[in-house]
Amino acid sequence: MAKNEAPTIGVKLFVDKEKRKVLFAESDKEFIDVLFSFLTMPLGTIVRLLDKKSQMGCLDEVYKSVEDLSTEYFQTKACKAMLLKPLNAASSHCCRLRINIDDTVPRVVYVCKDTSCSAHSDNGISSIPDTVCKCGKVMESFGQCRKYDGDTETAPAACSEEGVFVKGCLKFIVTDDLQVAPASTSLMMSLFEKFGVRDPAVLEQQVVQFSSEKITCLLKRSLTSKQPLTEHYFDVPVPHDDASLGTLAQDLNPKQEDGDEERLGNLKIRVLQMKNNSALLYAEVDGDFVDCLFGLLSIPLGSVMKSFGQCSAKGCLDNLYKSIDGGAKEFVRQDCQSVLLAPKLPPWFGCRASKILQVDELAPRELTINACFSCFKIGRFSDCDRCHRYDYSRRYHICTNKVKSSKLCEANPKIQIGGSEKGDAYVNGKHTKFVVTDDLRVLPLSLASTVKIVSEAKIQTSNLVEKEITLTKSQVMELQRAVLLSRNTLSSVLLPPKKIKKLNHLRY
Ligand SMILES: [Zn+2]
Ligand SMILES: [Zn+2]
Repeated sequence: MAKNEAPTIGVKLFVDKEKRKVLFAESDKEFIDVLFSFLTMPLGTIVRLLDKKSQMGCLDEVYKSVEDLSTEYFQTKACKAMLLKPLNAASSHCCRLRINIDDTVPRVVYVCKDTSCSAHSDNGISSIPDTVCKCGKVMESFGQCRKYDGDTETAPAACSEEGVFVKGCLKFIVTDDLQVAPASTSLMMSLFEKFGVRDPAVLEQQVVQFSSEKITCLLKRSLTSKQPLTEHYFDVPVPHDDASLGTLAQDLNPKQEDGDEERLGNLKIRVLQMKNNSALLYAEVDGDFVDCLFGLLSIPLGSVMKSFGQCSAKGCLDNLYKSIDGGAKEFVRQDCQSVLLAPKLPPWFGCRASKILQVDELAPRELTINACFSCFKIGRFSDCDRCHRYDYSRRYHICTNKVKSSKLCEANPKIQIGGSEKGDAYVNGKHTKFVVTDDLRVLPLSLASTVKIVSEAKIQTSNLVEKEITLTKSQVMELQRAVLLSRNTLSSVLLPPKKIKKLNHLRY
């Protein structure tokens, strides 16, 4: 293999050609690490990598809405970037994967270039493009830093006993529906029994190479199918769209009345619906509601699994998630359990959506550099030495600053110029109204957009009624779940279940 060739990971598949079924795969831990890394990815990253065809409920529509909304509807220009290209809080792990399909570069540092900046003493930096310095200037890319203070990554050992998330030098078995466990004779025998294999000789063993592109496709299949390996091997086309995602089952979350109920609830929305509850056209909402939808894009897949036990209506990533605390537990590195089971958000990504789902946010990272902030602004990462240099011929220090090191701290990209708010919302919402369609297209409220929706629905206006609804925290959480599972999110949660079922029957 040529040195510059893109990396691949070889996986051995055990195939029953007669039944056209991959029974299971045998792999090294490199492949398991890549599978587990899916759980650290923010939903927005997954939608982006799958080219807005993730088929996770209405999430693709939510993403497109963020793309199409003008930046004036966001707190800052950086907010839009945070939603469309969210960072992965576990990136220091993921950058060590044999194949990392997430192409965000989280260690790019943006800094206000102005050496006489009025906010100079803040030592503010950012990982998000278009972050605005307190002085009002837009921060610029200063290249990549190698490591933040407190990053605990270790280089992979030579024997490679330690993987990224997984340890040990053994083989793993991955079932067709992505259950992961260390390979053993007893497991193999139980799988043979499960699939009625009397003579293992009929199984063909095929080594397939997974490239970055194929891993991305596998991610998509694992969101849409219960047998991603079989479909991968036999090259079954991924369905373009799944119209069967009508309405999700009504096993909604038990209502938890806690202290947050009051604080986070009270989202007032107005809906336009049929008088007989058979359809909902759209909701008229404010920025807080939109923030609960958009914020989902920054939430890591593993956190969604933790809250809802699933992240798509048809996939099998729930099995992968359960393996971490189940079949594969013994071989998941201790320090990685929580990184996968309850992944956090990067600094400043916390928002209304993450608070409802109780996803924690990392504290702003710090970066100690061996130079004063002015010298860093001039020399960037490549020439921090200038701060210490002495010009012998002219007998003077290039930098007269006495303090020769500084601690850079991540600034909040959500704060507007001159803004004093705490700043955790993405959407600039207090004075703006939005229209949200049943399949979660979000538009600024205008008569043109509402008239269009009503006329496209082809419903007599006399059959329509407008209602005001105050959503509690648990209702918002149900909505968030429905975003991932249903194509008509609003009506599946806000209309009475019986009527919806009827509508569903009609559709089939
Ligand atoms: Zn500045
Ligand atoms: Zn200096």
